[in-house]
Amino acid sequence: MPTFEFTVKELKKLSRKKGATENIRLCGFYSNDGGKTFEPDEVKCNGCNWEVTRLFVRAENREEAEKLLISGSAGLCGECYSSMLAEGVECAKM
Ligand SMILES: [Zn+2]
Repeated sequence: MPTFEFTVKELKKLSRKKGATENIRLCGFYSNDGGKTFEPDEVKCNGCNWEVTRLFVRAENREEAEKLLISGSAGLCGECYSSMLAEGVECAKM
């Protein structure tokens, strides 16, 4: 199964979709123009909870990867992702 990489910019777009808000945990700041624009620069890993700049998802295709991210059942930082691969875990929270 291929691996897909999502940057904070892509995750910000995805986080606007229904149900994704609490699953894609973006961290960032509110810009000064009226305090309305949220500018995420990091996202929380679903494994270790660290704030990172990109998440990795293992899925059949990118559409599937996006669905997994939105549902909160995927999205690991590089560190967690590589240890998942090293342990050979197939269906654990990716
Ligand atoms: Zn992690």
